[in-house]
Amino acid sequence: MSNAKIVCTLGPASASHERIRALADAGMTVARVNSSHGTREERRDLLERIREVDRESAAPLASMVDLQGPEIRTAPVEEPVDLVEGSEVRFVEGDDASASEVGLSISIAGASPGDRVLVDDGRIEATVERVDGDAVVARVESGGELGARKGVNVPGLALDLDVVTEDDREDLELAVEQEADFVAASFVRTAEDVLAVAGVIEDLGGDVPVVAKLERSGAIDHLEDIVEAAYGVMVARGDLGVEYPLQEVPLIQKRVVRRCRETGTPVIIATEMLDSMVHARRPTRAEASDVANAVLDGTDAVMLSAETAIGDDPVRVVETMDTIVSEVEASEEYADLREQRVPGPGTASADSLARAARYLSRDVGASAVVAASESGYTALKTAKYRPEAPIVAATPDEGVRRRLALSWGIRPVHVDYVADAEDVIRGAVDAVLDVGAAESGDTVVVLSGMMTGVEGTDTTNMLKVHVAAETLATGQGTVPGRVVGPLAYAGDGLENAPEGAILAVPGSFEGPFDGDLSRIGGIVAARRGMTGYAAIVARELGVPMVSGASLAPADVAPGTTVTVDAERGIVYEGDVLARERAAGAEITADRRP
Ligand code: PEP
Repeated sequence: MSNAKIVCTLGPASASHERIRALADAGMTVARVNSSHGTREERRDLLERIREVDRESAAPLASMVDLQGPEIRTAPVEEPVDLVEGSEVRFVEGDDASASEVGLSISIAGASPGDRVLVDDGRIEATVERVDGDAVVARVESGGELGARKGVNVPGLALDLDVVTEDDREDLELAVEQEADFVAASFVRTAEDVLAVAGVIEDLGGDVPVVAKLERSGAIDHLEDIVEAAYGVMVARGDLGVEYPLQEVPLIQKRVVRRCRETGTPVIIATEMLDSMVHARRPTRAEASDVANAVLDGTDAVMLSAETAIGDDPVRVVETMDTIVSEVEASEEYADLREQRVPGPGTASADSLARAARYLSRDVGASAVVAASESGYTALKTAKYRPEAPIVAATPDEGVRRRLALSWGIRPVHVDYVADAEDVIRGAVDAVLDVGAAESGDTVVVLSGMMTGVEGTDTTNMLKVHVAAETLATGQGTVPGRVVGPLAYAGDGLENAPEGAILAVPGSFEGPFDGDLSRIGGIVAARRGMTGYAAIVARELGVPMVSGASLAPADVAPGTTVTVDAERGIVYEGDVLARERAAGAEITADRRP
């Protein structure tokens, strides 16, 4: 799995259950539902389908409702109209459009002569000549075909509109009703705008984090406050490149990503990333470089818009994007940049622990950093420091599991809620083994924030180096020591048992053992206690023994390599001592003379 995540905008080309499934299989982890298109009913269906796909597999799929915001859109025409260069066009409030008069969702009568009217991400450009009552008369400088509901920007024009429009309010109701994972707030100017959107969500009784879209002229002046107020941000380069001079967009992108890396705020780079693939089978070189550079900048996610919403082959686009991301992430350049840009420790102790986890995981050669995280806080902190080892976030909260699908490097997995600290660690480590991020015997670094029951505050309070291993049985350490060997069952006799066999003794076995006792390397007995036949033999031989632990051939086949850890009373699958042995540690089995 790549570190940088892929957000896909869904639309007519990707609305079916099968397509959403295929996009998720190709690498999409967040599905964006654009409220500027379709009906609310269609968006409700789409959100339901996204959730169905999420439920089908362990890998999370989050949903993002992208609000239209106080945006001006052109009329919903059925057929495109041609705006001819040099012609005069009237912009009025209305639902129709022709070559000479274009209806808009909001009046721009506040414009002044000389202002630029930029339509469809600036593809069509006109200059205001005069304002005629409610109509704005403009000369087309750069013409083109105008489709339905295209965005209109008049840089510098202050629209006296609430950041949450009436339409947005209804889309927020939908987001809350469908428990969407994110709401993307369009055209925010300040942190207050972000808080206004969050306030409406709260009033509706919802708990949906807000991703602030940076696209409005002036918003970048408030970058730090916006980043602090929002759960995440999106560099919405479509409108950004119209509201700001185009040549400023690349640097704004870099500054925003840097700020978000420093604060650990999820950031998405959006718009026209692989735009030519709306129809083409291959991206342009410039597009491949654009995606690669966003990944090198350290973004959390890259986003596809028309490519997946209306494109000819959305799945191919996601596969292409995933290939570019993976190639960059395997490079030396990427590793070097990651090393150079580790944020300094923050003020929260969670920051210090997460930063330590980054270096600790490297120093002990950990296969994964495991964040046991109830609210997602610990997992986000872990990701902030960009460890080399994959981050597995184990959480009992389904919403958190999906939400973390937007964040750099995090592989979120569901675990059952447990209160006991040891159980939290065991559950998280089992989850790492289940998803294949580590194998039995691998070292993992565990960070936990799941023990205080206080959400959202500085809850990360434990950092531990742990040997990941599948626990086969637990019991009582009866003869101390640790030993690894092939499993044999007492009922099968010892004649054919391999040298150093770990003998599993069922509760019904009365003894004695048949054959050469020197073959026994360790004992796992179902009957608990120090005085039974098996315990007496173990003590005489001086081999580690766990009692009260039951193994059955149907679950664990004879010959399986197991580790008996009689210090802890645990029987693990595999050789969990291999790394220690390789590092020169002395493994003690209490072999008495
Ligand atoms: C953008 O402007 O880049 C963007 C992502 O927003 P929208 O698609 O809503 O215009």
